[in-house]
Amino acid sequence: MPHDHHDHDHDHPHALLPPDPALRVKALESLLTQKGLIDPAALDAIIDTYENKIGPKNGAHVVARAWADPDFKHALLEDATAVVADLGFYGRQGEHIVVVENTPDVHNMIVCTLCSCYPWPLLGIPPAWYKSDAYRARAVREPRQVLAEFGLHLPEKTRVRVWDSTAEIRYLVLPMRPAGTDGLGLQALTDLVTRDSMVGTGLPLSPA
Ligand code: FE
Repeated sequence: MPHDHHDHDHDHPHALLPPDPALRVKALESLLTQKGLIDPAALDAIIDTYENKIGPKNGAHVVARAWADPDFKHALLEDATAVVADLGFYGRQGEHIVVVENTPDVHNMIVCTLCSCYPWPLLGIPPAWYKSDAYRARAVREPRQVLAEFGLHLPEKTRVRVWDSTAEIRYLVLPMRPAGTDGLGLQALTDLVTRDSMVGTGLPLSPA
């Protein structure tokens, strides 16, 4: 899948940011407001939704359900977009979702090398490090080193597979279910799923 960012709407900035992006954003927002093209209250509502109301908890729910329900997991790996849309998790920056499963043999890690494509309806707004030049460049060049800096040390035999998100495809990692969670219900499982475990830069929490 080519990383095509040229002929579609994108809700986040691309390429090299100016030295003071916050200032430029504010200037743009003021100009668009003056011209009557946007409503600042609507912008605030959108940002609040993705920053505070969604966060990573939708994704955590999906992961916990996949751990608890083999049929759900199978369907999720086959066609995640349809499965998460059924749960009401769809919308901007989530038009096509692919879920990749971690196993003892393969650890998956997500990056957007070109900008910051990320599954908003499942994880909310990407963290600053996900958008940083360093993460975007190094995740593909030296993924094990980057993971180590996140505190994640994988066994030698585990391969690391890096997925480059695009405007068309957003990836979500299905981490391995932690040991010692056999008796846990869905909510308790959900509480173990961290944002970073769904980006591949971390692991789920342990019940202990
Ligand atoms: Fe992108």
